[in-house]
Amino acid sequence: MQTATSHRFKENARTALDDPALQKALGNFQENFIDRRARAAARLPEFDALRDAARDIKDHVLENLDFYLERFEAKVVEAGGQVHWCTDADAARSAVLEICRAAGARTVTKGKSMIGEEIALNEHLAAHGIEPVETDLGEYIIQLRHEPPSHLIAPAIHVNKDQIADAFRAAHADLDPARPLGEAPALLAEARARLRSRFLAADVGITGANFLIAETGSTVIVTNEGNGDLTQTLPRVHIVLASLEKVVPTLEDASTILRVLARSATGQEFSVYTTFSTGPRRPNDLDGPEQFHVILLDNGRSRMLGTEFQDMLRCIRCGACLNHCPVYQAVGGHAYGWVYPGPMGAVLTPSLLGVGEAGHLPNASTFCGRCESVCPMRIPLPKMMRHWREREFERHLAPAAARHGLRLWAFLARRPALYRFAAAIAAGLLGAFGRRRGRFRSLPLAGGWTAHRDLPAPEGRTFQQLWAKRRRVS
Ligand code: SF4
Repeated sequence: MQTATSHRFKENARTALDDPALQKALGNFQENFIDRRARAAARLPEFDALRDAARDIKDHVLENLDFYLERFEAKVVEAGGQVHWCTDADAARSAVLEICRAAGARTVTKGKSMIGEEIALNEHLAAHGIEPVETDLGEYIIQLRHEPPSHLIAPAIHVNKDQIADAFRAAHADLDPARPLGEAPALLAEARARLRSRFLAADVGITGANFLIAETGSTVIVTNEGNGDLTQTLPRVHIVLASLEKVVPTLEDASTILRVLARSATGQEFSVYTTFSTGPRRPNDLDGPEQFHVILLDNGRSRMLGTEFQDMLRCIRCGACLNHCPVYQAVGGHAYGWVYPGPMGAVLTPSLLGVGEAGHLPNASTFCGRCESVCPMRIPLPKMMRHWREREFERHLAPAAARHGLRLWAFLARRPALYRFAAAIAAGLLGAFGRRRGRFRSLPLAGGWTAHRDLPAPEGRTFQQLWAKRRRVS
């Protein structure tokens, strides 16, 4: 599995906040995604009804997951393919390697796959003498830079044009070093020319899957570049990487969820390419692979079933919660320290890696609720982050000062009169001490805040006192 640094979220976040190039890149992308999603949702009157329907489809699947997975496998086999059930990352990597070796593969092309990242597949293949080539442009760029993706649908969102040009000059050393690479079309043309020959040379093509369809045994990918189609039709062997919650009962169910996916992700009505694959090439087919394999990964997901985290398995990786999250907007994806960033990562990463490794992530939230309000699958992300915070507290994983502070707060919150009295004293004291400047530059127990900004001084009264006064006046 990919090495995680989620336990170092605070250090990672500080590094991200001090990186001017990253801050500029994060500032550029946000409004684009947010506005486009809002316009796409407004253009479709039934958008919210579709979100309800999408949620209900996935809830039904999760209640009957064994049935639909077995049905999916039976249909894949009927179409001439094979399903490999993998309990963890090790099993998935081994299964892929075995298929590649049996095919005598030297080069594999890859479409974008978060499961590939989760199981650190590229490193494993390279260690065994097989060259993996990412074919999604963003993934290709970060592969050259030896970095993980920083966004679910825009993996190189943190990189600017100059950094891409530097990566291309270093990797494509046989080309004229003086060639102009200052503009996006030049970068695009160079990547396209490089990848074209790799598509043709590949023995195995590996893609992810947005959906697995139980009634037909089909897998579905959506892309905007068409690289997925070339990856899965040109080589002799096609391997699909998918986690088990990707299954849906029917083609119609997949279509329903597709209608909210692209609108939530990029604001498009539909992605440019939506490709359905069913088994290997049949006798009359003009193209397609000779072998079709589906790697079905659990890796901790079945443990989430029947728990307060089951709803997270409805996620379709659209990235809307990232785009709307003020914390993600400030620190980007790498700070989260593993494959899944933003609010969805703050719930999924502790579920898969444990709260001991990833306990910081659910704490990295303002609980503003924007993530839940835009999620097409209506996943209650803040509620689940709160559950993780409770687990962290129960297991004494939070710092002692935070635990004692919470205990004190809980003691007072259960005694309203005492709470009001203590709050009035605290507000009065802070108001008196802060009156001269109107703000604090440093304050005991609030160093995390005042290290980066001033804390406005309270005016001397609590909200409850001000509210009571207003009611008396009116
Ligand atoms: S949690 Fe919701 S908004 Fe976030 S990636 Fe998943 S489906 Fe999209």
